[in-house]
Amino acid sequence: MGKGAIVYLWYLFLCLKGTLDRRIRVMVKAVVGANWGDEGKGKITDMLAQNADVVVRFQGGANAGHTIKNKYGKFALHTLPSGVFNENTVNIIGNGVALNIPILIGELEGIVAKGVPKPIVLISERAQIIMPYHIKFDEYEEERLAGKSFGSTKSGIAPFYSDKFAKIGFQVSDLWDSEENLKEKIRNVSVQKNVLLEHLYHKPPIDVEETYKTLMQYKEMIAPFVCDVSSYLNDAIKEKKTILLEGQLGTLKDCDHGIYPMVTSSNTIAAYGGVGGGIPPYESMQVISVCKAYSSSVGAGEFVSEIEDETVADELRHRGGDGGEYGATTGRPRRMGWFDCVASKYGCRLQGTTDVAFTVLDVLGYLDEIPVCTGYEINGEITDQFPVTRLLKIAKPVYETLPGWKCDITGIREYEKLPENCRKYIEFIEKKIGYPITMISNGPARDDIIYRTPSI
Ligand code: GDP
Repeated sequence: MGKGAIVYLWYLFLCLKGTLDRRIRVMVKAVVGANWGDEGKGKITDMLAQNADVVVRFQGGANAGHTIKNKYGKFALHTLPSGVFNENTVNIIGNGVALNIPILIGELEGIVAKGVPKPIVLISERAQIIMPYHIKFDEYEEERLAGKSFGSTKSGIAPFYSDKFAKIGFQVSDLWDSEENLKEKIRNVSVQKNVLLEHLYHKPPIDVEETYKTLMQYKEMIAPFVCDVSSYLNDAIKEKKTILLEGQLGTLKDCDHGIYPMVTSSNTIAAYGGVGGGIPPYESMQVISVCKAYSSSVGAGEFVSEIEDETVADELRHRGGDGGEYGATTGRPRRMGWFDCVASKYGCRLQGTTDVAFTVLDVLGYLDEIPVCTGYEINGEITDQFPVTRLLKIAKPVYETLPGWKCDITGIREYEKLPENCRKYIEFIEKKIGYPITMISNGPARDDIIYRTPSI
């Protein structure tokens, strides 16, 4: 063999090794939403959590919920990571979460009471606490805005994140500070809060003693779970453990990249997983963006592909998800729409999508034909680029209509066994959004899943 051939073979070996190393190195996976939330992330996380060592919640609070159906029953989780159903998985509340302590503990006790083995839970000492007055401020502000409200879930999320960035929040670690220091901090925060309570909302001021007492109860509740999460995750990465970052809501609710101001107060994109979990940015990540086969949105805000005919919308709402499209936290009926390729392409791009999990496809089996929004008409021009809110307000949907498959696809486990029109629907959407659909969810249960080799 000539010298040139040896060098070439060596080069080939290094290339292959590089690819393999990269694949092996993907120990951090993120499951995030590419739409408005409620895409079925809980089901996909619960499914992938079976092979994960660690599941991390990295943003948001108890204002949205995942619905999970598994061998223990049906659960609505608001704060607990979806790995809590696996005995060996470590479930982490990262520093980026808005931590509502009574809700977390209530949820934990609730699942154990329903027969789930007591899960392993760790809470970051740097996570910040939703204070009782955050929830009150949320309620008072919605009351003040009346008809012009943002449709808040009144969980205290916006006041919480405002305080965090104004540097007057309370970290979990503060609960271990001295009585004197903690009371002093509550007193200082109260000075400015009481001005608003008295003069803007005409409500009673913050009671320092009462707040301190509540914090001490919180301390007792979470003491067994608190640790240095970032350090734990650093070790887990070194030990080549599989880490799953679990997102809440979706790209279109991200406070920077979503439909501002109808957004949540945190970042819902996978890039924030590092910040909100405490993982360095150089860890390579597999990003699984969950896209629902049709659209739904909760609360006010621009929704270009919303179904205008209420009878049509109501039928999809009624048949949607597992038992209808109603909020897991609030029970509010969700607004319904057709699949939006423009919003989903944008949603996938911002997430840094490596894989799309296409969910709730089984629901569409009743339709003769299915409109898909492929563009927006803005000022007479058609675009497939998702615009800023100002332009979204005047955007009109451009639809292409695909034939339905008119049968029940639940129970099918191989892609080729799906009806032809159903495969065409998937492949059409995959091409339009430009990201590979590698998983198709055709039912709410863990094993209602079809893995597929993407065509792009
Ligand atoms: P999340 O916040 O993204 O987890 O979304 P939700 O909790 O709102 O989940 C959507 C609903 O759809 C839940 O009730 C799930 O059990 C259900 N679901 C998830 N995947 C599928 C699916 O493929 N088919 C059906 N019919 N329901 C699903």
